[in-house]
Amino acid sequence: MLFDTHAHYDDAWFDADREQLLASMPAHGVGLIVNPGCTVETSETAVRLAERFDFVYAAVGIHPEYSMGAGEAELARIRALSAHPRVRAIGEIGLDYYWEKRSPETTPPRERQKELLRAQLELAREVGLPVIIHDREAHEDCLNIVRDFSDLRGVYHCYSGSLETAKEILALGWYLSFTGVITYGRAKKARRIIEQLPIERIMIETDSPYLTPEPERLQPGRVRNSSLYVHRVAERIAEFKGMTVDEVERITTENGKRFFDIDGAGGA
Ligand SMILES: [Zn+2]
Repeated sequence: MLFDTHAHYDDAWFDADREQLLASMPAHGVGLIVNPGCTVETSETAVRLAERFDFVYAAVGIHPEYSMGAGEAELARIRALSAHPRVRAIGEIGLDYYWEKRSPETTPPRERQKELLRAQLELAREVGLPVIIHDREAHEDCLNIVRDFSDLRGVYHCYSGSLETAKEILALGWYLSFTGVITYGRAKKARRIIEQLPIERIMIETDSPYLTPEPERLQPGRVRNSSLYVHRVAERIAEFKGMTVDEVERITTENGKRFFDIDGAGGA
């Protein structure tokens, strides 16, 4: 059974077939999914989907790209949602400097992003949930803040940093999760990192509907990603680590259950 630990079924790209697609997942070997929110609204949708499907769980939080509109009122709504029994993490939260050079007018300033990240890490501490971290081109600042919250449990999603940073994250007892990006081309950097990581600290995800893995990505047109392709990530990790796909599937699912406290797996 595969566990897609990060997929955005609240996205409009799923509007036409969301229900049927999700309902088909267990028959395709995808037995668990976590849907994180990026805004108050998408966090609410994530909770609704988790109420509707027993294999879907939710995370709630405000993504750094949306930090301009996020004040006390929005944080209070995230706090209220976090008490829902199907909510298993605060996320996705973090820092994103990627858009700074590309669209400076609409990118929230670094200080605002950092302030919101700290506020949501405080919230996670207060409500006793783990965190899902989004870190895009902000590795140093992100780790500096996360270090102040080393008492929390966390996962860096769609990990894109260096091996050195990965080791620091592991030292905190945290996890790293990987998407279809590791299927692109030869993925030399990802291979070097994954080879060195203990499999017990790796989770897999799609970040659907984005980051469609290869070979599906190579089809003509924009190919929508979904949890149906999460096995591509497991296959690549198996190749990098010289393990069987079954082993990677079993262990990454156990890791996800432990992390998100599913089926009484318990926090670790
Ligand atoms: Zn995401």
